[in-house]
Amino acid sequence: MSVFLKTEDEIELMRQASRLVSKTLGELAKHIKPGVTTLQLDRIAEEFIKDNHAVPVFKGFPNPFGESFPASICTSVNDIVVHGIPDGKTILRDGDIISIDCGVFLNGFNGDSCYTFSVGEVSEDIRNLLVATKKSLYLGIEKAVAGNNLGDIGNAVQNYCERHGYGVVRELTGHGIGRKMHEDPQIFNYGKSGSGMLLKSGMCLAIEPMITMGLRNICLMPDRWTIRTLDGRPAAHFEHTVSVRKGKAEILSSFEGLERLEVN
Ligand code: MG
Ligand code: MG
Repeated sequence: MSVFLKTEDEIELMRQASRLVSKTLGELAKHIKPGVTTLQLDRIAEEFIKDNHAVPVFKGFPNPFGESFPASICTSVNDIVVHGIPDGKTILRDGDIISIDCGVFLNGFNGDSCYTFSVGEVSEDIRNLLVATKKSLYLGIEKAVAGNNLGDIGNAVQNYCERHGYGVVRELTGHGIGRKMHEDPQIFNYGKSGSGMLLKSGMCLAIEPMITMGLRNICLMPDRWTIRTLDGRPAAHFEHTVSVRKGKAEILSSFEGLERLEVN
């Protein structure tokens, strides 16, 4: 297990990378509406990231089969939990949701964040799922303080989501983040409080609950990237990059800019 603690200077670079991810999601928020294809969103994101002198790290990222992800963002619509591949055939429709996961490499460090957007008017059930998933992310982040254990984060996410009748995906996790997109430790979205690694100041973590409206089970599509819910019901995914500190974690990414454009 290799957990890299970051200095304040390194955290500043992480902050810059994370802010650029947030700005990219904010840029995309302006374009999310019925009729837009996920490929159009990918093009916008890629151009925006490159214009800001950064690298869209998801492009070329390998899966366990040694294949490279072909796009700059993951666009996961409705029952796709994660790793949806942007394409010209997926046209957003009124009532859809789309999780856009974005990662950039800037000045030697990575930032990673995901937001599930509503397309037009969504049903109340779906709105509740989005609100609960986002809430669970912030409850997890509240536990990401020095002196707590890793299991406190997962426990907070799981408790809240399951109490509200939602499924917590178990096969996918958050992760440490820094010079590499995925560093140790893995961050489960379930677990026992007081269990697991002791959290220390300087750890940078990508916390990312993936929550389903129905059963928590998932399946991998033949493209070997796209992960859907097994029961075909919708899933939501919110993610922040944070740095662990004493007393309160610092959230390095931000939803502020894009939430101004969201109807809640
Ligand atoms: Mg991500
Ligand atoms: Mg991540």
